[in-house]
Amino acid sequence: RLKTAVEMTSFLSAEVHVIPPGACNLLNSSTIYANNEVNLAEVDIYGFDYDYTLALYSNALNTMIYNTARGFLIEHFKYPEGICKYDYIPNFAARGLHYDIQKGLLMKIDAFHYIQPGTVYRGLNPVPDEEVLQLYGGTYHVPLQQDSGFYGKVKGGPKVKQFMDIFSIPEMTLLAAANDFFITNDIEYDPVHLFKDVSVSEAIGMVHLKGYMYKWVMEDLDKFILRGEETDAVLHRLVSQGKKLFLITNSPFSFVDKGMTHMVGKNWRDFFDVVIVQADKPHFFTDCIKPFRRLDGNGDLRWERIQSLEKGQIYKQGNLFDFLRLTGWRGSKVLYFGDHLYSDLADLMLRHGWRTAAIVPELEQETKVVCTDRYALNLTWLQALTGLMERLQTHRDPESKQVFQEWQSEREELRVMTKNLFNPQFGSIFRTCHNPTYFSRRLCRFSDLYMTSLSCLLNYDLSYTFYPRRTPLQHEAPLWMDQLCTGCMKTPYLEEIQAESDI
Ligand SMILES: [Mg+2]
Repeated sequence: RLKTAVEMTSFLSAEVHVIPPGACNLLNSSTIYANNEVNLAEVDIYGFDYDYTLALYSNALNTMIYNTARGFLIEHFKYPEGICKYDYIPNFAARGLHYDIQKGLLMKIDAFHYIQPGTVYRGLNPVPDEEVLQLYGGTYHVPLQQDSGFYGKVKGGPKVKQFMDIFSIPEMTLLAAANDFFITNDIEYDPVHLFKDVSVSEAIGMVHLKGYMYKWVMEDLDKFILRGEETDAVLHRLVSQGKKLFLITNSPFSFVDKGMTHMVGKNWRDFFDVVIVQADKPHFFTDCIKPFRRLDGNGDLRWERIQSLEKGQIYKQGNLFDFLRLTGWRGSKVLYFGDHLYSDLADLMLRHGWRTAAIVPELEQETKVVCTDRYALNLTWLQALTGLMERLQTHRDPESKQVFQEWQSEREELRVMTKNLFNPQFGSIFRTCHNPTYFSRRLCRFSDLYMTSLSCLLNYDLSYTFYPRRTPLQHEAPLWMDQLCTGCMKTPYLEEIQAESDI
């Protein structure tokens, strides 16, 4: 038992270089992670969202969205020309951040609704912690009633909006840039107006930008659509093993048709039993107002009442209640893939009992960081230090107090270093220092499985069972063997596949 600060310090330097053997090699970005146990053998029907799920887009799209929205601000909303000097900053913002509309602040919030110190940005510059505390009445806590609604929409009162779309990365960057322009040039402005004008969720912005996005992608499919062959391979594999497939997208048919033809070939519709376009998710999952309509071969709307959903046809709008009635596809034999936690997955999970899989492209980059020795070392050291602080705090002698303070500042430095390995402004999208982020909590709640891209499915047999890792609850004993046994498997067939492709 360690008694004095000196003993603890020597323990610290002697013992904590131990990183669990092989821990860094357990993960790779082709792994599918489970929040909940899922047996693929029980899944007969696979459903998909289209944008950022079947079709992954390259980051080049972000720059174009940013430039176009910046152009709108200046030409349409008459903002100062000087904003043009701000080019897109690729790794500034991250998904899942919150934005205080009235104060014009971008920030990361954790699962307990606390702002993470050091991650609050006004314009392009960090706001000191003391000032953040002052701005929020002496606390880092952001009350739930101030947060944007369930689907990330800001209704009436809410003052803080969470950005959940992959699409919203250029939007956050533009907000930061425009705020920065006004602040550095000492121009008085109202951040609320700025938010309204920039926000691509606003009717004008969204309609315009989406329209542009469709046009850009269709003009250069090779440049903008990534990993199309892998999507093709996944669909082939599912169909060849007798699975039923369906597609529910908010995008228009002409756009989806172009992209799918590019990835899968002109007979792509043969793969799907049901295709629904312009579905108006999330309302598709919640309202039962809009009936399905059929599109004819020219893409024109037909007037007949829809009595069944037929293979080879294209349907528009509709709602999940009719979908369930007409197909009979209910419960856990259905697995639906989408990238938007709220508008794709939340309702399915909470109300309808389909299995859900989230596509989280950020995992690729974050897994790489987590696998570095630097990260493993930082984290092991951080945890050891925290454990020792926990014990040392009861020692009241001046020497111990001194050491405690040194450890405290070292811990602070370590936290910042670890955060910066991911994104220097906001850190990992999954964690604040010790807690899961707000984003992470939603991810766990609304998805059974999550993965970098659909192509991860290629590494698993279609009768594979995903077992989540059993992490001990706070009152349970940390049985480390238990932690390393389940949920830590290397992607089972990846090595075989890689070996084959080497030949
Ligand atoms: Mg999508």
